[in-house]
This record gives sequence, C-alpha cells and structure tokens, in this order.
Amino acid sequence: MSSGQLTQRWDTFLGKLKDRFNDILTQTDSPLDEIISGLQFDTVPIHNVLNGLKYQTVEQLSQKGEEGWSKMQAELIKSIQVFSQGAEYSKLTRFIGWMNDEFMRFEVKTYAKAARKVLENVKSHIDEKKIHRCTQCAGELNINVYSFNAINIKCESCGSVNTYQPDDRIRAMEYYVINHLAEEQAIEEKIRGQRDKSAMKEYYRKYYGFMMENIPDKKELYERDLNERINNPFFS
Ligand SMILES: [Zn+2]
Repeated sequence: MSSGQLTQRWDTFLGKLKDRFNDILTQTDSPLDEIISGLQFDTVPIHNVLNGLKYQTVEQLSQKGEEGWSKMQAELIKSIQVFSQGAEYSKLTRFIGWMNDEFMRFEVKTYAKAARKVLENVKSHIDEKKIHRCTQCAGELNINVYSFNAINIKCESCGSVNTYQPDDRIRAMEYYVINHLAEEQAIEEKIRGQRDKSAMKEYYRKYYGFMMENIPDKKELYERDLNERINNPFFS
C-alpha cells in the first residue's frame, strides 16, 4: 500500500469514529429530553445517563482509535516509503481532544436544560406569597424565600428573633440549578482553560461571579473560593 493510500484509509477510519460520536449524541437527544421532563427537584438521573454516554463515546472511541493506530503502524512497518508517523498520530490525538471538548459542551448543555426544568418545578411548588408570621406575636415577617442559609429575622412588631429555615428544594437549587447555569455561561472559558492558564482564571471569575450574583447569602464563601483558585501557585 502506498503512503497516500494509507493516509486515506486512516482519515476515513477517523472520520467514521467522528460520525459514530455524533450519531450517538444525536440519538440520545429525545430520550434525554424525556428524562429531563420527568425530573423533579434534582438532576441526579442526568448524571447517571451522562456517565454512561461518556463511556460509550469519548472512552470507547478513543480506545478504538488507539487500536486502529496499532494496525496502521503494522502497515507502516511493511511499507518502505517515507512516512510521517508523528503527523498521522497527531490526527488521532486531535480527534480525541475534539471529542473531549464536544462532550463537555454536550454535558454542560444537558445539565443546564435539566437545571431549567428543576427551577420551573421549584417555582411552581413554592408559594412566594405565603405569609410568614412571628412565633411570638404573629406579626408578619419579611422573608426572602429564596434564601440558601438559615436566617435570623428580628420581628418588627415585638423584637423577638425568629429563625427561618429555607425550603430544602430551594437550598438544593444551589447545586442542581445555579451551579449548572454558572457552568453553562462559562463553558468556553473552561474548555480553553484546559490548555491556557489565563482562560482558566477567566473561567473561575465567570463561574464564581455567577454564583455570587445568584446566591448573595453565600457571596463571601464563593469569593474566598474564587480567590483561592486564582491565587493558586499553579497560575504564577
Ligand atoms: Zn413578633
């Protein structure tokens, strides 16, 4: 086989792996939508499906690619022509990198869709107009139901302090809704951040910025996390 034929066979092989990757993800669109529409207050079922899908795509197709490369090398040894192994092998590493990035986008997009569904469910179950009353004098308390920590509120009528425990479904939104939406708006920085430290810093700023904005109760905690991340010696 000539080197031209070998290259062509290799390119065709990699092209088929790429088609397979795209097919698998396209085929899961409607079953995934069905799972999302059945979600309640968390995104756990999505986590399990995505793990399986990642194995089926990124991991198995990378392995197939490596197997294909072994066969390719066996042919190259038989061939007496000059051949750039490095250039051919880098097509595989680029393909594997591409799959990783695409799967990350897919994963984040799917979680964000699930997060919006969970948010819709929480909103329809939480009565924002419900009146919260002081345990001492039954005076009306001014409460933000979208709180993520227990809060102490002083009653304006009698001065006694009431502790308000936010609904568990609202607390869980920190992880199952807001976290996923934060990832969604910072995904491109996260992907570039795998190869570029300044993009990684940008990712942390965007991710934590979103968390701080949407969970003001925990702003200090997230700010501390952010500073720990970006001041990591890894970046200097
Ligand atoms: Zn009171």
